[in-house]
Amino acid sequence: MEIPFHSKILSTMFTLIELPYAKDALAPVISAQTLEFHHGKHLQGYVDNLNKLIADTPFEEMWLEEVVRQSTGGMFNNAGQILNHNLYFTQFGPAATVAKAPTGALAEQIVKQWGSLDAFKAEFESKGVTLFGSGWVWLSAQEDGTLVITQESGASNPVTEGFKPLLTFDVWEHAYYLDYQNRRAAHLSALWQIVDWRVIESRYDD
Ligand code: MN
Repeated sequence: MEIPFHSKILSTMFTLIELPYAKDALAPVISAQTLEFHHGKHLQGYVDNLNKLIADTPFEEMWLEEVVRQSTGGMFNNAGQILNHNLYFTQFGPAATVAKAPTGALAEQIVKQWGSLDAFKAEFESKGVTLFGSGWVWLSAQEDGTLVITQESGASNPVTEGFKPLLTFDVWEHAYYLDYQNRRAAHLSALWQIVDWRVIESRYDD
């Protein structure tokens, strides 16, 4: 395919994000094998599919979030999954180096709404455990800074509701089955060890 000299098209030929850590850096919470499949196969598949679907359409000139907001059907599913996974993979780091709790405005807002970080985590995990089938649980911010937890099924992302996505747990079975089999609750509870609250905070403050 000949790529026209047009910077917007070049910028929206979607590519697989690079992980900001080594494949074995999140073990044992997420194994290298799970990352090989989840990032290298599942996410790569969504990227390849979306690039085929947007070719020669007006979506080729949109940013990823715009595609998610404006598309339907297969295009929405692939674009949503890329946005979801990009936010998911980049919120983690090795357990020894991540910030285990938020500070500043985000920390204050969590305490204001839930009473404590532990109470927030309990509700977030519970919303992940009770989400029926494949999907995502999200912490998002509304325009006035208020936080909201939502359950999104399939490929959906809180940007479709006008929220700013901050933190997410992937509850599709491909995210945990190799390491935890059917034990979704055990997987979600372990994920807190590798969530880097500096990343979540920077998304909130942005
Ligand atoms: Mn996934």
